[in-house]
Amino acid sequence: MKWRVILTGVSLMAVATSTAAVAEMTFIHAGHLMADPATGEVKQEQTITIEDGRVIAIRDGYVGEGNVVDLTGQFVLPGLIDAHVHLLHENGPGDKLARVTKTPADWAIDGVPFARKTLLAGFTTVANVGDENTSIYALRDGIMEGKIIGPRVIAAGNVISPHGGEGDVYGYRTDVTKAIARPNLCSGADDCRRVVRQHIQFGADMVKIVATGAVLSDADAGVDQQFTADELKAIVETAHAFGRIVTAHAHGTAGINAFLEAGGNSIEHGTYLDDSSIKLFREKGAYLVPTLLAGATVTKWANMPDTWLSPATAKKALEVGPKMVGATRRAHEGGVKIAFGTDSSVSPHGENAREFALLVEAGLTPLEAIQAATVNAANHLRIAAEAGRIAPGMPADIVAVKENPLKDVKSLERVIFVMKAGAVYREP
Ligand SMILES: [Zn+2]
Repeated sequence: MKWRVILTGVSLMAVATSTAAVAEMTFIHAGHLMADPATGEVKQEQTITIEDGRVIAIRDGYVGEGNVVDLTGQFVLPGLIDAHVHLLHENGPGDKLARVTKTPADWAIDGVPFARKTLLAGFTTVANVGDENTSIYALRDGIMEGKIIGPRVIAAGNVISPHGGEGDVYGYRTDVTKAIARPNLCSGADDCRRVVRQHIQFGADMVKIVATGAVLSDADAGVDQQFTADELKAIVETAHAFGRIVTAHAHGTAGINAFLEAGGNSIEHGTYLDDSSIKLFREKGAYLVPTLLAGATVTKWANMPDTWLSPATAKKALEVGPKMVGATRRAHEGGVKIAFGTDSSVSPHGENAREFALLVEAGLTPLEAIQAATVNAANHLRIAAEAGRIAPGMPADIVAVKENPLKDVKSLERVIFVMKAGAVYREP
């Protein structure tokens, strides 16, 4: 069963019923329930009724008998959404060797425990924005078919990159570089149109590109714009023509602005965004996915005396990492819409919720941080009819924590109950 993120509607319909559907009714007794983070309203002593993987009712008081889940002492909220993960790996000193030793099957199998950790941390939906094409599609489909445990995956496949850009490889012999080149490299507008079309044909739910240099590509090539305005326009137009949203990794100001000018839907990282960028974000209705956890992690690595980072990546990490919280603060103050994303793979999988405290450090209220990981991420990924709220008709993606996250957002780092599509994966 396949589903795709499309611009004009939502087609996750098959998901909830395809995996571990629960035939009988389940009643969740929720002591404190925030069903819709858009309003932030918290109701006490509520019952959520679930059938065939979907919520069918929310009622006052504790009702129903039989299959009752007791969350009377807990704070209950919708399953969380991380709009920026890479489920097939965790960055480390072995990266360079892995690229020439691992097969697509190895990558897919490596992703199995990472997907499980992510779901058990309360993230019932993720956008996987850059991993080996066939491997991530296999993982996505295996989860959807109920063969392995993990969040719903909206997969971008490999990132689309200019030759020699962040999505290319560095540091190998020329013949090896050519032999392991990914299918998602392009140069020139026409070539980029071809690559985007083929990429979607091969299975991408959304398109992720790299508009600028990146910290963890081992190139001494900065973090400025790498695709030309012409190429960006061709990529965005083609992705949209095929009904896909397109998001861009971007640090440098010119790259951020050129992608937003071209009509791109969102920016990942956004380190050097300025007032002109904020104006463009607002004009275009684009989202920022800050990935502050990645900034904190690469800064920590670069400052270790025995760092595994190469000199080129350590230099970029120290330039970029410490600036990311400030960029998010400026964007938030400027009214830019923020969607939650962690870049997990830089930080370990399953620690995604550490991003909440960093968003609060950047000036978001705890409720705004929760909105970023529910309603905003759902709107950003075009899945608002199927994720981000607990409401009749929606898939039963529900998590619970012990302490009120509006008082201490770090309580979300200690999720004690996880339900995805009506199936319980973690219990108190
Ligand atoms: Zn990333």
